[in-house]
Amino acid sequence: MESKKRKKPIYVTRPAMPPLEEFTEYLKKIWENRTITNNGPFHQQFEKELAEYLGVKYISLFANGTLALMTALQTLRITGEVITTPFSFVATTHALWWNNIKPVFADIEPDYFGLDPEKVESAITAQTTAILPVHIYGYPCQVDRLQEIADTHNLKLIYDAAHAFGVKIKENSILNYGDLSVLSFHATKAFNTIEGGAIVCHDKKIKNRIDFLKNFGFVDETIIIEPGINAKMNEVQAAYGLLQLKYIDEYITKRKAVAEIYREKLYGIKGIHYLNDLDGVHHNYPYFPILIDAREYGKTRDYVYEELKKHNIFSRRYFYPLISQLPMYKKLLSAATKNLPIAERVAKEVLCLPLYHDLSKKEVTEICGHIQKH
Ligand SMILES: *Cc1c(COP(=O)(O)O)cnc(C)c1O
Repeated sequence: MESKKRKKPIYVTRPAMPPLEEFTEYLKKIWENRTITNNGPFHQQFEKELAEYLGVKYISLFANGTLALMTALQTLRITGEVITTPFSFVATTHALWWNNIKPVFADIEPDYFGLDPEKVESAITAQTTAILPVHIYGYPCQVDRLQEIADTHNLKLIYDAAHAFGVKIKENSILNYGDLSVLSFHATKAFNTIEGGAIVCHDKKIKNRIDFLKNFGFVDETIIIEPGINAKMNEVQAAYGLLQLKYIDEYITKRKAVAEIYREKLYGIKGIHYLNDLDGVHHNYPYFPILIDAREYGKTRDYVYEELKKHNIFSRRYFYPLISQLPMYKKLLSAATKNLPIAERVAKEVLCLPLYHDLSKKEVTEICGHIQKH
């Protein structure tokens, strides 16, 4: 790789933000009416417009995705064991831990890295109550097959859809699958409200229960039906989110263009593999993961990561280490669940390259140039 280091660093992501002038107009309204949280007007409007945009029935906004995941598990009264993926961001499993639920890891599929339905089925025990898959990098899990398994074994199906904002399968939102889907609007995600998250559900009664749970369990001033938590999104986040919604299609189109430049530039480099779009799927391009086969490429993933860093380009090893390898979860692995060969290989080979809506063609070309020369 050439040695000249660029001056301005390129990070793995850079949040898209709405125009400041538009945001100040919304802030003025918040200052005027003095409702700053607790299901205020912007919160209500954002829930409504977001449900319409995403093509889902009900949505409950949250302060962040992790609290939404924790609350989703409470909503369906999940206990015992839950089968989940080791190849995700740590919050997926942490949410189980905070609910006193034992995570049981099953291996992933080699092509798009979702939970392998066959591996899920063989991990089911008498204690299993739910499946918690992740649409990793926004690529849909095998939703029909997972639903079939959930139905056969009478299990709940909750998707961590933190990466899957706006993803559709044949014009139908991916969030309409399973019992619940959880979104994250963290600064690093394709759609951000700085921090934020949501639960998508298909039933008004469930929506009511989620809304009680995220507000301490309050039904009215004096009636508290559950030991709920405080996980509400505030008015400033909701106003920001409403503005983001006006621009999200443009952001995703630009992300797609960046992904296409990467695919063109990386095409044919021996040992470098990327993921292609799936037929019939509307993608959202939240990350640009590549797999580096050290034998074919001649250098390891960590070599590329370090070399890019030397040039002031910061890629990320999402998701390494595997969650199942973290000290607090490793001890839970049984002989049956210890064997996760696909997840182990992918965690060793994967590297997420910088991707955001205003990453220029020149910058992508520069990044790919470093990967080409090695
Ligand atoms: C970001 C993320 C979360 C957590 O969301 P926060 O909004 O950051 O709390 C959960 N799961 C996955 C897969 C994520 O990438």
